[in-house]
Amino acid sequence: MKVLVIGGGAREHALCRSLSLDSEVTSLHCAPGNAGIAEVAELHAVDALDGPAVAGLAASLGAEFVIVGPEAPLVAGVADAVRARGIDCFGPSREAAALEGSKAFAKEVMAAAGVPTGRSYVCTTPDEVDKALDAFGAPYVVKDDGLAAGKGVVVTDDLATARAHALSCERTVIEEYLDGPEVSLFAVTDGETVIPLQPAQDFKRALDGDQGPNTGGMGAYSPLPWADPKLVDEVERTVLQPTVDELRRRGTPFSGLLYAGLAITSRGVRVIEFNARFGDPETQVVLARLKNPLAGLLRAAATGQLAAFPPLHWSEGAAVTVVIASHNYPGNPRTGDPITGLADVAEKDEHAYVLHAGTKLERRSDSAAAEDRVVSAGGRVLSVTATGSDLAKARERAYRAVGRITLDGSHYRGDIAAEAAEGKA
Ligand code: AMP
Repeated sequence: MKVLVIGGGAREHALCRSLSLDSEVTSLHCAPGNAGIAEVAELHAVDALDGPAVAGLAASLGAEFVIVGPEAPLVAGVADAVRARGIDCFGPSREAAALEGSKAFAKEVMAAAGVPTGRSYVCTTPDEVDKALDAFGAPYVVKDDGLAAGKGVVVTDDLATARAHALSCERTVIEEYLDGPEVSLFAVTDGETVIPLQPAQDFKRALDGDQGPNTGGMGAYSPLPWADPKLVDEVERTVLQPTVDELRRRGTPFSGLLYAGLAITSRGVRVIEFNARFGDPETQVVLARLKNPLAGLLRAAATGQLAAFPPLHWSEGAAVTVVIASHNYPGNPRTGDPITGLADVAEKDEHAYVLHAGTKLERRSDSAAAEDRVVSAGGRVLSVTATGSDLAKARERAYRAVGRITLDGSHYRGDIAAEAAEGKA
């Protein structure tokens, strides 16, 4: 199978790594990719938001299967453009991706499907905002209705901050505060059949102890030793299947990856958000544990064949990923800093590997003595992933590998999976 992956973060590196280990995949391409993905796939330049350009690239490569990683191309209709060229594509249509692209739409679908979620108001005027904030009280949860690259949500005790964020959004969803640990559960679906993957937990805040601003995600682990073993079945029954059924009933079937962000509250499981694609950084740990070859599973979803798909197999062990971020991230990150130690990890750490996010290869052909080097090119730079018989072992290996890497001004959290390794949520 000739496969093209769209995107260029650590999620796409994790996807490409798994695809490169799949014997069914004979040729692997990625656009635009990054310096790490270049080691397992052939890179191509493309505007990932331009559907006809992506479809044209896939056709010119003779790709039989396209996998769209990030949300923005899906919300822009890139999967539709690829399918219109007669090429199989993993990822929902533009209309179905609105489940992520509009929080108000997601709330409407959940209400229609009877899916448990926080009570909320959709507001467009200052008056509506004030009424909603008053109705719920602190802590306030204020969400931009549209896509905001993980930065559209403000959770705060401060009314003025909550109000200012709400008024800065064209349309905002103000929601009741949901207490309790969070779980990310992914499911692969063809629009009818739902196959849940293993749950993971990610760390959204920039600093240890869940302090500091929200980020795209600073680390993740799987499995969740503290979670109820029946959680996956329950979420499949009460959240995933009803949502997929409701979207099909509306004539906008959702095929691809349905990501449920959940809060395990004292009153039961509640959906915090849906995403329409693999989560980053949870994908890094979920795929590290998946034993089935990836291409066949995703292609079966893209072609409506999941009902006949055999059960998934998972490693009994654990996986942990730690994100190394640039100076100043999640503010405007500094880029162009050289990264060292990557070869050291590849050489010395049998159970750890580095997935690249914002990196690029800097060619230094100007001088014969100078070698090409990998430099930072974004906010989240690397996702250092390790496996082990349990979380404690996987963590130890991940942090040992992190310690071999240098990137001037970078930062990472030191407490990824620390409490879970001790059995706490
Ligand atoms: P989202 O972009 O919807 O994932 O929100 C980002 C983060 O904000 C989530 O991972 C939660 O930590 C937090 N959050 C979102 N909605 C709520 C809520 N209703 N109650 C408490 N925290 C929330």
